[in-house]
Amino acid sequence: MSSDSPIITASAHSVPSYLNADNLGPWGIYLQQVDRVTPYLGSLARWVETLKRPKRALVVDVPIEMDDGTIAHFEGYRVQHNTSRGPGKGGVRFHQDVTLSEVMALSAWMSIKNAAVNVPYGGAKGGIRVDPRKLSRAELERVTRRYTSEINIIIGPNKDIPAPDVNTNEQVMAWMMDTYSMNEGSTSTGVVTGKPISLGGSLGRREATGRGVFVVGAEAARNLGLEIKGARIVVQGFGNVGSVAAKLFHEAGAKVIAVQDHKTALFDPAGVDVPALIEHVSHNGTIEGFRAETISAEQFWQTESEILIPAALEGQITAANAPHIKTRMVIEGANGPTTPEADDILRERNILVAPDVIANAGGVTVSYFEWVQDFSSFFWTEEEINQRLVRIMQEAFRSIWQVAQENKVTLRTAAFIIACTRILQAREMRGLYP
Ligand code: NAD
Repeated sequence: MSSDSPIITASAHSVPSYLNADNLGPWGIYLQQVDRVTPYLGSLARWVETLKRPKRALVVDVPIEMDDGTIAHFEGYRVQHNTSRGPGKGGVRFHQDVTLSEVMALSAWMSIKNAAVNVPYGGAKGGIRVDPRKLSRAELERVTRRYTSEINIIIGPNKDIPAPDVNTNEQVMAWMMDTYSMNEGSTSTGVVTGKPISLGGSLGRREATGRGVFVVGAEAARNLGLEIKGARIVVQGFGNVGSVAAKLFHEAGAKVIAVQDHKTALFDPAGVDVPALIEHVSHNGTIEGFRAETISAEQFWQTESEILIPAALEGQITAANAPHIKTRMVIEGANGPTTPEADDILRERNILVAPDVIANAGGVTVSYFEWVQDFSSFFWTEEEINQRLVRIMQEAFRSIWQVAQENKVTLRTAAFIIACTRILQAREMRGLYP
């Protein structure tokens, strides 16, 4: 097809029902985001339909024998949204509410994230519709291994590399790596990332996402002329991402004045002792009971700050609380914490939003380092890893900032412009096969 051929788009009735944007689930939100950037894609817009459908979606039955002898069936998915720039990359989620639509959207956001920080991956995501808390450890292992065998045909170190996501961890990655290796007949550490260090995992991986949040927050603050030292920080979620980000801001002289988790919200105008709070959570599993004033959820969202970090769940900043948020910038540690309506409200109120696809990309960046280290069987020091992470995150943020200024768009739209351009340029250069 020559480059000046007309764009051929699918007619409405040829769009499969699962691709339809009528239901505003996660996939529908993603399609809206793509529509927003299409006017900025120039001649590449003729390829945009590529982004609006996953390359490949595999739905698998995962039957296992339960400890009581009964047979249970779970539905599993692995979606490769795009592999134009490299192998698929994205986590595996074990959750009772996982749907194909959700996994499709998460896989697409991985394509965007990987292209936004310019790591040589496409986007993929997987999931099993299962409540892992209801499984014994042996059942969890059987579910993981059977699921891995079922998706074995489309994953691999050069094809698609899973990683941990909600309710999956180093142990699940170790079982996935072992199952794939047994099926292939050779030890293949590079098939998954987020592995234990003893199996080819990377130093710095656990802290990487929170560290990336801090780097992006510091860059954004610099651009707004805001000092980190003395800045007031509010953090929702004090898990892997939120606690590390809070620790790094604390170490840089900022004051973490409010923290919320699934149990409660705390306030301390002098700044919480973050290392002591981390210690408290490691013993109690929650921030509840720590020495600080307890506040309501409503008060939490209205706490005046310079930087607000949502690092818990999706859909937390909504049309209901966005009008009352009093901060200079929102750094999205969580995936999808801000609804599209809230995004518009924050923009009107001149509150800067550093979007998830860049702000929490530190995790996948160090996953990329893990994969590179596994290929070369040569492991880097934590210092080297952190230095490389900071450089990649800073470069990515600076180019997104520049595109946002040039086009007078939000950082989210700018990140999508850069990412979609990179993906579609690769698509165009590769051409269509056959
Ligand atoms: P985590 O399970 O370690 O921590 C989650 C935190 O959120 C906990 O403190 C929990 O108490 C809190 N929380 C849960 N429900 C809440 C509620 N209703 N209100 C307030 N707080 C609540 O998870 P994590 O790894 O820190 O991930 C947090 C977010 O960051 C998720 O959206 C995840 O997808 C995203 N993310 C994580 C990584 C990573 O490397 N871990 C990478 C990219 C994105």
